Parts: sequence; C-alpha cells; structure tokens
Amino acid sequence: MTKKILVLPGDGIGVEIVAEAEKVLGALVNDFGLDAEIEHGLIGGAGYDAEGTPLPAKTLEQGRNADAILLGAVGGPKYDTLDRALRPEKGLLGIRAGLELFANLRPAILYPQLASASSLKPEIVAGLDIMIVRELTGGLYFGEPRGVETLPSGERRGYNSMVYTESEIERIGRVAFDIAMKRNKQVCSVEKANVLEVSGLWREVMLDVAKDYPEVELTHMYVDNAAMQLAKWPKQFDVIVTENMFGDILSDLASMLTGSIGMLPSASLDKHGKGMYEPIHGSAPDIAGLGLANPLATILSVSMMLRYSLERADLADVVEAAVGKVLDQGIRTADIWSEGMTRVGTAEMGDAVVAAMK
Ligand code: NAD
Repeated sequence: MTKKILVLPGDGIGVEIVAEAEKVLGALVNDFGLDAEIEHGLIGGAGYDAEGTPLPAKTLEQGRNADAILLGAVGGPKYDTLDRALRPEKGLLGIRAGLELFANLRPAILYPQLASASSLKPEIVAGLDIMIVRELTGGLYFGEPRGVETLPSGERRGYNSMVYTESEIERIGRVAFDIAMKRNKQVCSVEKANVLEVSGLWREVMLDVAKDYPEVELTHMYVDNAAMQLAKWPKQFDVIVTENMFGDILSDLASMLTGSIGMLPSASLDKHGKGMYEPIHGSAPDIAGLGLANPLATILSVSMMLRYSLERADLADVVEAAVGKVLDQGIRTADIWSEGMTRVGTAEMGDAVVAAMK
C-alpha cells in the first residue's frame, strides 16, 4: 500500500535541509521502488506566519493521516518575543503530544571517517553506536502541578513535577527492550532512584518488563553517573532508556561525542510505529539561507523512517551506505570539514548522496 509521508520543513535551515532529504526520497520512489506519496505542511514560525499559530489544525490532521512525518527544524529570533503559546517550539511539543509520539530514539553513531571531529580521543569514540530511548510525552516537562506562584511573604516560588504512571514507564521500557533485541541486547535504565520516588517506581517497572526479555541484560544507573560514564567510556552502552528531561540532557551529551550536530537523526514514535523523523539540531538562524547547513542528519532521518515506520530496512541500508560513501570520498560541509577534504554546500551534499545511491 502507498505510504503517506508528511513533510514539515519548518524554519531557518529546516527548509534547506529538508529539500535535500526530499531529493533522496524522490530517488527512492523513482529508482528504488519505494511506494510513497509526499504531502507538505506548516509548523513552527512558518505556521505562525501563515495561520497565526505554530501548529495549525490542518497540520495535526495531516499528521494523523500520515504514516510518517519528516520535520526540518523550528524557531528563529523573530519569534522569540512572541507569547510562549505562539512560539515555534510550542508547535513541536504540540505535534509530539497530539500524535502521542512518546518514544524518542536518538542514536549517537560515530562514522569512522569523522573520528577526529569528536572532542574525545579517537580510541574512546571510534565505532561508537549508542541508542538513547527518551520518554517524550511525560515526566518533568509535562507533569502537573507546575507553575510560579507568589507566597504570602511576597516571594515567588516556581515548581514542576516529575510524574509517571506504571503504564507510561512500561511502554517506553518495551520500546527500549525491543530495540535492544535487534542490537547488542543490553539496556541501561537511567534514573535517580536514590533520591526520587518516581525513579524508584521506574526501576521496579523496568525490572518487570525485563522478565519478558530474558535474553536482554538490564542494568540501572543514576543519571549523574550516566553523564560521567558517557564522557569517560561511552562504548560501554548499547541502549539507554530514560525519563524525558534526563534523556534530553544525556542525548545532547552523547551527540557531541560524535563531533557534529549536523550528522545525527532522531525518531519519535507512537505505539503503532508511526513516527516523526527529524535531525536533532535546531533551525540554526546563524547560517540559515547561506547554503552552508549539513543535510546529512535529515537524510539519515529518512533512513530511520524507512527502518521504523515504512518497513523498508533494505532501503535504509542503501541510504546509510550512500552517506558512508560520500564521507569516504572526502566530501564535507563546513561543520565537518577538515584539512584536505572537499568542502561543499548543502545542495551539493544532497546531490552527492543521491549520486552515491545509484
Ligand atoms: P541549533 O541547533 O539551531 O544551532 C546550534 C549551532 O549548530 C549553530 O552554530 C548552528 O549553525 C549549528 N548547526 C545546527 N545545525 C547544523 C547543520 N545542519 N549544519 C551545520 N551547522 C549546524 O541550536 P540553537 O542555535 O540553540 O537554536 C536555534 C533555534 O532553533 C532556536 O529558535 C531554537 O529554539 C530552535 N531549536 C529547534 C529545535 C527543533 O526544531 N527540533 C531544536 C533545537 C533548537
């Protein structure tokens, strides 16, 4: 059956990098037998400019009807003074929550060709391949009560709540264990059970889920130690599963081990496997419109889409091999360029990947 892909370029470099990913999608449809049709929609600042809201109702409807969504990035300085509810980032949080995309998958993979781009020694990061599974629709970012109140003394008090139900923990746990079954069969559950009650529950539920996956080894780690271990010896990890804010912080740390923000894709999945796929970086206003942005994270997001939502792992292999080939050829955008390599712009990088697919 023809799969429906919704493309949401968003703002800033989102427009440029998504255009390159669409070249790859076009080649997959025209030359590799991918049965898919593409529709476009508005989100973020682009939604606000056209419809007065960062998440137009039509976009959410389009998302509900799609099998997979490809998103560029949202945000930009011109929207920073808007009311919080109208800011581009609200569109992103809104579509994640509206489509119940509760599982955020962020691989941190270091291409051997880019080992020197990492801030860590090559022997510590070469061959790095971690999958961070971050819970995305609960925890500290969504928990109630939340707010800022004025106490009788006149002093203000701000508060947020880290809240999880057993079923929310169980479903993210199952995603992590299912992924581990396809990898090295190790899950590290990261929490702060020595201090937080919600983390104690998290650990209990993870132990229960593990009973259904006897082949997978489950370990537990406090989040502060996990941050330290990621910087010290990251290759000890296979799959990490963790709460929303812990995952936000740890996945940024893990991504930086690989040297470039322009290389890393992500997926956010619902319980049926529908997913929104996006690079982990933002809209990079400092380079927007200059043709300098690295489109590889977005192209690799297409590859994750093929693997997790479109059931075409064979084509994911084609895209990933093409990216590897382009790096082997020494073709680099500015963010990953080093002496002796060929420096190219956004569109040339997209063209090079399409050429390498053939
Ligand atoms: P950013 O990720 O946009 O940029 C950080 C730095 O990385 C910049 O120097 C940028 O030029 C560079 N960079 C990012 N992507 C790149 C690419 N593909 N190729 C080459 N260089 C790249 O983060 P920021 O500057 O903190 O945020 C800018 C805007 O993006 C803000 O409005 C922020 O809210 C938004 N944002 C959006 C998302 C998202 O859409 N998922 C994520 C993070 C930030």
